Amino acid sequence: MTMATPLATPFLQLEHIVKRFGGLTALNDVSLALAQGEVACLVGENGSGKSTLIKIISGMYTPDAGVISIDGQRHTHLRAIDSIREGIQVIYQDFSLFPNLSVAENIAVNEAVSAGWFLVNWTELRARAAQALARINVQLDLDAPAGTLPVVDRQLIAIAKALLQNARLIIMDEPTTALSQREIRSLFDVIRTLKAAGIGTLFVSHKLDEIIEIADRTIIIRNGEIVVDRPARELTRGAMIRAMTGRDLEDEALAAAPPAHAAVALQVEGLTCRGHFYDVSLHVRAGEVLGITGLLGSGRTGLALSLFGMLPPDSGRVTVDGRPASLHNVQSALEAGIGYVPEDRIKEGLFLPQPIGHNVVVRVIDELAAAAGVLDRGRMAAAVSQWVDRLRIKTPSAALPVTSLSGGNQQRVVLARWLATTPKVMILNGPTVGVDVGSKQEIHEIIRGLAAQGMAICIISDDVPELLQICHRIHVMKRGRIVSEFTPGRISEVELNAMLIE
Ligand code: ADP
Ligand code: MG
Repeated sequence: MTMATPLATPFLQLEHIVKRFGGLTALNDVSLALAQGEVACLVGENGSGKSTLIKIISGMYTPDAGVISIDGQRHTHLRAIDSIREGIQVIYQDFSLFPNLSVAENIAVNEAVSAGWFLVNWTELRARAAQALARINVQLDLDAPAGTLPVVDRQLIAIAKALLQNARLIIMDEPTTALSQREIRSLFDVIRTLKAAGIGTLFVSHKLDEIIEIADRTIIIRNGEIVVDRPARELTRGAMIRAMTGRDLEDEALAAAPPAHAAVALQVEGLTCRGHFYDVSLHVRAGEVLGITGLLGSGRTGLALSLFGMLPPDSGRVTVDGRPASLHNVQSALEAGIGYVPEDRIKEGLFLPQPIGHNVVVRVIDELAAAAGVLDRGRMAAAVSQWVDRLRIKTPSAALPVTSLSGGNQQRVVLARWLATTPKVMILNGPTVGVDVGSKQEIHEIIRGLAAQGMAICIISDDVPELLQICHRIHVMKRGRIVSEFTPGRISEVELNAMLIE
């Protein structure tokens, strides 16, 4: 760890801070120093201790060990009131504003309260609110109710309010999450203006590009320990990701990718379904797991439905194992060798009061019946028990209703049903939505196993960590189009999430 040594007394200094929650050490021997007016970014994965650190600095939590110094003054028991008095202001994600009060009233609310609300000289307070806004070069209608303003304006109000309380360090927890690119620009201008006035900013962010742009210092925290504390310009995206995750993502064990010469099982060319998605081209090889992700409304769900004949496309071409597949209805998709596991297993997938066995073979009953002239109960029972075994569906009997199963096992029944149709390509839409962590891991194992046996798998999901764990390649969809392709080893969760939004 390298630690900058500021020449002057740092404005804020933490030395050997430890914070435990029961048996969990949320912060372990954390030391850092912030100079006056410095812009520092605190980065770390979920649960790494960022919020806990902010609460220690703002006096909301008392550390189990360590010392906090502000302006050279040592505190072993910093109280929230002391922290505020020393000029530390935290802007929480809800901005703690009163939506029905005006901009001016919100900015000056603390002054108004301490003076006694009804004794306040409102003309003077309005002037002070206007001044605070002017200090950050912001103009807002002082009389507008705060609740009617866009997020970025409410954030600026919160900053102006902090300035009126003599802020010297403003702490913001993920300030840019809800902002547009243009709003982020204006927030950054404000941060630079504050810096010029000697007021520092400590902010939490996941957006690596922003950090590189605005921060003087980058502080990376992992498992409650500071692993990097360096001038921001010395860090690349890759170095930040490695420090945050503690591993070289290139080294992460993924399922072995299929060889490049493996046959293309599913080929999609220029597929369009107006109002849903446009000009989608992709391919999945036998044995490959392809992920498709995007936000709600990106077109990912429409694409899944189209590939399974539930939303017939307007134009484009789809082939399975080189043969053209018509996708006019579910039956034709099935005949082409495409299986589909729906997202909402309860709503779309299962006949709950029916026996597990029936649910597994519902798609092949026709086939079994046609082959034998009548429904061959023996063959049906064999098909059922084969898949109940292979997918380790935990049930004493396939004759029990699906409602008797846990969520993860219900999901497996849906899988088993489509596997019984022996598809060449399997479309999985949110395969683990609503299942517990243990079942999730098992379903991942099953997916890897199916791919290893040569099935082509296409997973449509907004569960980014999941996609990074099981896919060989990932496509990102935005506004109905595929905009990029990634290999999981080369992109982090943080980056991929950012990619969906930007
Ligand atoms: P971050 O903000 O980086 O996501 P947090 O500081 O919220 O992380 O949490 C760090 C760790 O401390 C996590 O493991 C979290 O579960 C735990 N933790 C945080 N606050 C509490 C609390 N009040 N009680 C118990 N555990 C907590
Ligand atoms: Mg947090």
